Amino acid sequence: MRHCRTRGTAILAVLVVLGACATNPATGRRELMLVSEGQEIALGQQEDQKAVASFGVYEDPALQDYVASLGHSIAERTERPKLPWTFRLVDDSAVNAFALPGGFVYMTRGILAYLDSEAELAMVMGHEVGHVTARHSASQMSSQQLMSLGMGIGMVAVPELRRYGDLAQLGLGLLFLKFGRDDENEADSLGLRYSARLGYDAEEGAQAFRMLDQLSEQSGSGRVPGWLSTHPDPGDRYERLLAAIRQQGLEGGHVRREAYLKRLDGMVFGENPREGFFEKGAFYHPDLSFRFELPRGFEGQNTKQAVWAVSPNGDAVFQLTLGEGDSAEQAARGFFGDPEIRTLDTDRTSVNGLPAIVGTFDAQSGQTLVRGVAAFIQLEGRAYRLVGYTGRADWNRYSRSFGNAMNSFGPLRERWALDVQPRRVDVVVPRRDLTLAEFMERHPSTVPESTVAIINQLAKGETLKAGRQAKRITGGHGR
Ligand SMILES: [Zn+2]
Repeated sequence: MRHCRTRGTAILAVLVVLGACATNPATGRRELMLVSEGQEIALGQQEDQKAVASFGVYEDPALQDYVASLGHSIAERTERPKLPWTFRLVDDSAVNAFALPGGFVYMTRGILAYLDSEAELAMVMGHEVGHVTARHSASQMSSQQLMSLGMGIGMVAVPELRRYGDLAQLGLGLLFLKFGRDDENEADSLGLRYSARLGYDAEEGAQAFRMLDQLSEQSGSGRVPGWLSTHPDPGDRYERLLAAIRQQGLEGGHVRREAYLKRLDGMVFGENPREGFFEKGAFYHPDLSFRFELPRGFEGQNTKQAVWAVSPNGDAVFQLTLGEGDSAEQAARGFFGDPEIRTLDTDRTSVNGLPAIVGTFDAQSGQTLVRGVAAFIQLEGRAYRLVGYTGRADWNRYSRSFGNAMNSFGPLRERWALDVQPRRVDVVVPRRDLTLAEFMERHPSTVPESTVAIINQLAKGETLKAGRQAKRITGGHGR
């Protein structure tokens, strides 16, 4: 990373010279812009591809259209209606919403489940749209943008390993760019402006921010890493919004709660275990029918393109991806044939009866000389690539755990794991007023009571009303 930053500074200097002063149409502020609108859009498009590859879009065309059409109605009424606005519902369980320069806005299915009306959705989307119209990332894009450019241009690593480097960073510098408090407050005001222009009840909309506050309080920092990492809490956000609503006389408007909840009915909730899950130090992939054990003590993460695991002190990485080609041989040839990989040995072998090729290698990753082991294992017409690597000096400490992890790879046969299903949102209508405990009894959920309370945005002691829709969560593997 260090040399990327240096490179960034050099490019930054060039941009500063080219930068121009302009008035921002949304904020009315004169500001020094380091990037033109064209660059802003180009950057957004480039990062959008990464976002889609990393998160995936949620496969429900009706729900995608719904989010997109609400987004476009908001965007049309902003000061920058002509941007190539793109709204995506991403397949991520984290409670989050984020935006990229140039008009790319993302809502996770995680946040959709926690929102309780279209007015809230409009407020949160309006907030993200506000970051774009006010050019928050564009005006402070400098270091982050250039760092990510730097990663592409400057990293003298093996392409294979660079991919891991990207994953370690999540390769999404801009998405996880933290805005300052002032930017957050400004995005809140713009979100309020935009949702009010569409006639939404802003007081109802602002409930979304109260829910997010409660969620982060309830969970410490564990549950909403998404929203918290992209939206540092500007404090009393909810009160400030309510004050602004009253001051501007924006009370009243439509809420569209029922219509909103109806759309959520059946949506996947939480992580989707069909796409892989960890249990007791092992990783299971029901859809691809394989399993393996992580190196002992490693922390696993499952992303769209890879399963990766990192040693407790972060000095060793283990990674599983699909290899290129459909045979172990083909995939291995591609990897060991890379001129930047110095192959030490390769061996044709078998892993739990599956044809495999295993080899060790040295490679340069940034400033570090790494040593690693790569296994290419063939299962049902696919070649899986398992790679473990660490600094050359630490190799002896990790080589055995890498080997054990690779040798544990095999077909998944456990019925409970093959049959696992995701949890889903189920909208029910209580026939009489119910306390939360009664609701849990009558309409059981497979998540804790505290989660049911917050997805329904229930205040402490508040009851669920007769005839009013409520959310519960069903399904999941329950182990
Ligand atoms: Zn924000």
